[in-house]
Amino acid sequence: MTTTVSNDYSALLPSVREFLSKPQQLLIGGAWIDAADGKTFDTINPATEEVLAQVAQGSAQDVDKAVAAARTAFEDGSPWSRMTPRERSHLMWRIGDLIDEHAEELAQLESLDNGKRVVSAHGDVGVAAELFRYFAGWATKMEGTSIPMSVPGRDFHAYTRREPIGVVAGIVPWNFPLTMACFKIVPAITAGNTVVLKPAEQTPLTALRLGQLLLDAGLPAGVVNVVTGFGDTGAALVEHHGVDKVAFTGSTEVGKKIAAAAAGNLKKVSLELGGKAPNIIFADADIDAAIAGAVLGGYFNEGQCCVNGSRLYVQRSVFDQVIEGVAAAAKAFTVGDGFNSASDMGPLVSQEQHDKVLGYIRGALHDGATINAGGPDAPFSKGYFVQPTLITGVTESMAIQTDEIFGPVITAIPFDTEDEVVQAANNTVYGLAAGVWSQNIGTAHRVGARLRAGTVWLNTWHADDVTLPRGGYKQSGWGRELGSFGLDDYTELKTVIAELR
Ligand code: ADP
Repeated sequence: MTTTVSNDYSALLPSVREFLSKPQQLLIGGAWIDAADGKTFDTINPATEEVLAQVAQGSAQDVDKAVAAARTAFEDGSPWSRMTPRERSHLMWRIGDLIDEHAEELAQLESLDNGKRVVSAHGDVGVAAELFRYFAGWATKMEGTSIPMSVPGRDFHAYTRREPIGVVAGIVPWNFPLTMACFKIVPAITAGNTVVLKPAEQTPLTALRLGQLLLDAGLPAGVVNVVTGFGDTGAALVEHHGVDKVAFTGSTEVGKKIAAAAAGNLKKVSLELGGKAPNIIFADADIDAAIAGAVLGGYFNEGQCCVNGSRLYVQRSVFDQVIEGVAAAAKAFTVGDGFNSASDMGPLVSQEQHDKVLGYIRGALHDGATINAGGPDAPFSKGYFVQPTLITGVTESMAIQTDEIFGPVITAIPFDTEDEVVQAANNTVYGLAAGVWSQNIGTAHRVGARLRAGTVWLNTWHADDVTLPRGGYKQSGWGRELGSFGLDDYTELKTVIAELR
């Protein structure tokens, strides 16, 4: 059984306490307002199951207002449309600095709302700040191209321009609430779009706090609006004909609904969806590094990460050694409240997620699999905790092997040959991430190239940068986020043809 530690809120900042004591409203057109029908919902601390704060529950009527505010802010002649790229760039840099200044406050809010450890939330806040600074540089570098034309006897000057698309709906999940909000807001505003953000119902708090920081930094009213609520709030946004683009991160199931609903006015759609990443360890790998990578790949963020290496494939001659190592590391985790600095792993985000993950673990046991570490036993009587779990004796057809679990669960299967493991690794509807461990440079790069996934890690896992594009093959999504590629998805490309008479 895993070691556990108790709740400890001694470090709670007065500013966080004050934020939580007030009912949270919607941010529309630069003003904080209640939902039109006055509805609110509770957001829960997953470590204690207690209510953290009350949050406005936006309806279709509020979505209408937010889209109208975003449209007004976008329109020709608005303060936002008149801002020069350099002014946008400086403003974004200011926002990055403001996020850094409020890092502890944001990290505490994130930990309380999501369950993750404060130290992990600090990492997320750092990424959020860096996103603003990285994209601040792109605001002044959205260049077009001059393209020659060949029309006999006539002269032309043709060129392209990158222009904003318009009103962007950003719909985000609960696993990295602040970072995901910034994944949508930052490239959108870099290109001069306006945004209506719909945070996940489980974790609305940091997006709301960010909304105030954006206003404090001087972002014009209506450029970013935040409408909290449930799936129906998101659906109202996706169906709204005043929205020009939807940028979504979440489940493949909801992604398909969004793709269908966006067809009404043919919104542009970018989707970052589920994953079931294979993590392949060859016998010639640095085994200690591979074990540490498998543990990080499987259990990072309580396993609630779409690029987690949930399917471990280990070459047969080192299988027992790797299983022993991963199981020992899993058993060494200290599970507890993310606010207690002694915790290595916090709770899952919600009762629903907790029950779903335990359901998969019990299902695997029922199907005849073996638990090598962790399992379905609850470490606490309260809170949505799941022990880091390692499962062997799994077949490719078991639900635990085919479905995205989104919890701290790794399954492991032995393999003999490269062809066999590549076939097994690619045998999934998903294609978000994959990894290979081998000290043979040829094996690592060759297998990396054969894996059908948007991100491939060689001899590492979760190594990342805001400069790198990310996204999925197959049913893991449409488009790429971040890096220079990520900006293209937030622009229209205009071709201008002038005849030189
Ligand atoms: P998860 O499975 O990780 O909870 P979901 O895909 O269910 O992720 O949710 C991600 C985001 O999509 C959340 O903000 C949620 O409220 C929103 N959402 C859920 N259903 C819909 C829908 N039909 N249309 C638009 N947004 C939705």
